[in-house]
Amino acid sequence: MDGKKIAGLLFPDVNESVDDIFKKYPPRHLKEGQVVSRFAPSPTGFMHIGNFFQMFISYNLCRVTDGIFFLRIEDTDSKREVKEAKKVIYDILNRYDIHPNEYQTLDGKDVGGYGPYVQSERKDIYKVFAKKLVEEGKAFPCFCRKTEGKDDVLKLRENKFVEDDEKEYDPCRDLSYEEVKKHIDNGESFAIRLKTKNTGKERVKFYDLIKGEIEAKANAKDFVLLKSDGVPPYAFAHVVDDTLMGTTIVVRGEEYISSTPMHIELFEALGLKPTLYCHNPLICKIDENGNKSKFSKRYADADMRYYSEEGYPKTAVLEYLLNIINSGFEIWRAKNPDAKWQDFTFSVKDITAVAPAFDIVKFNDVAKNIIAKMSAEEVYSSWLDWAKEFDSSLAKWLEANKNYAVGFLSIDRGGVKPRKDIYKWSMIKNETYPYMFSRPHFEELLAEDKEKCKEFLKEYAKDFVFPSSNEEWFAGVKQTAEKLGYAIDNKAYKQNPDAFKGNTAKACEFVRLALTGRRNSPNLFEIMRVLGEKETKGRLQSELK
Ligand code: GLU
Repeated sequence: MDGKKIAGLLFPDVNESVDDIFKKYPPRHLKEGQVVSRFAPSPTGFMHIGNFFQMFISYNLCRVTDGIFFLRIEDTDSKREVKEAKKVIYDILNRYDIHPNEYQTLDGKDVGGYGPYVQSERKDIYKVFAKKLVEEGKAFPCFCRKTEGKDDVLKLRENKFVEDDEKEYDPCRDLSYEEVKKHIDNGESFAIRLKTKNTGKERVKFYDLIKGEIEAKANAKDFVLLKSDGVPPYAFAHVVDDTLMGTTIVVRGEEYISSTPMHIELFEALGLKPTLYCHNPLICKIDENGNKSKFSKRYADADMRYYSEEGYPKTAVLEYLLNIINSGFEIWRAKNPDAKWQDFTFSVKDITAVAPAFDIVKFNDVAKNIIAKMSAEEVYSSWLDWAKEFDSSLAKWLEANKNYAVGFLSIDRGGVKPRKDIYKWSMIKNETYPYMFSRPHFEELLAEDKEKCKEFLKEYAKDFVFPSSNEEWFAGVKQTAEKLGYAIDNKAYKQNPDAFKGNTAKACEFVRLALTGRRNSPNLFEIMRVLGEKETKGRLQSELK
């Protein structure tokens, strides 16, 4: 057999054997049921919500079994790597308090005994495994790219020599030791390809934790294991790394199902036991109008940073994802409204098998419910934390006006039916409470009521006594209303609306508009209390010019 001699030519510097490597990566001592899983992102400078979703499945499988969750940076495609890209990944995990048990720190220190946790630092390991396959005649060096005048071969390569008879035309598949030596002596670089044992007719079965047993066409391609720069494409790196790192469940997107037969053949060629797979369905998106679509990278909310920038509470993101990963979560949450999400028993059998949909309206509801349960102080401090990062002038304002801010955040908070009008920190100033920051404009909302409103507010402001209770302020409105010919008895108004300028509800609406610029607002007496007497009066008079 030339395999051993060829392997020696190709890898003269590789002295370690696969067994030597295994000694450095002994099997993990796991307790019954403990899961070892991982998040293996490519550092692209961007974390898609789908990746986070998948990571969260993996994380939870480990969390509930007291297992080991590790982070492996898959930076073998250096073209895609961007500076700071690793930091983006670490920052997002940190933000959500997801702390892998094993990982490499940003300054390159491995934490855990199965590193390096960055693939570009594992090149020497991949070579040992590739060498073994060449020695055993299960892989071969391919010099094609450097071979001139072999367009037909390059074409066939593109088609991956799928049919058995085509393999005979492959100029590299069966090179003798002498031929390989000639190429090497010429200084030609080479890739290493798997020499598949299959002909294109075989089938393969594998088990998927979500989809059950899957049967598919077995791999019949001589795919690349190592590129000419010694870097492995995904398949080889996955098989080697997940074996050495002791992964018990590989959670990855279902787009990998079609290439799983390649991975199975590789495990077999190396004499290794395949890992258990959990291919999660890809997340899709439902927008505000109920339209469903692929969660394209182009959407701003596909990027995990969006949720931080917009100021969604992190628990809302995690809980909503749990919700769509596992339908049991919603039922559990309804029964346990005050429990921490961590108390939910996450089970692999309950992971959704259908495409989960990220529905922005439902997500906002989850966030609203979470924020509605927080105290005003908690909302204030989370809002301030967000502002410190994303809106420094607001942060300064919040620090200088803490009592005022906590004051208006307290309105209609607590109690059995708290207001649910905040779902992200960025909306408080401009959408929920703009009128607590500046006087509202409301003339344009009045239309035919304009003159009536002016008349009412003028009279109301004249008689205005700063109320000390809800009843008192309502009595004040009623008094002015009655004076101006409004019905204070709604029944009487309904029977004969033309006899009145309006009813008390109308009168209250004018006050509400003057104070908040809205037809709908939290309790007006409370708003007045927070605004204070001077500002309240000022607002009542401001439209009277
Ligand atoms: N680097 C691969 C990706 O980001 C990882 C897939 C896997 O988890 O195995 O898609």
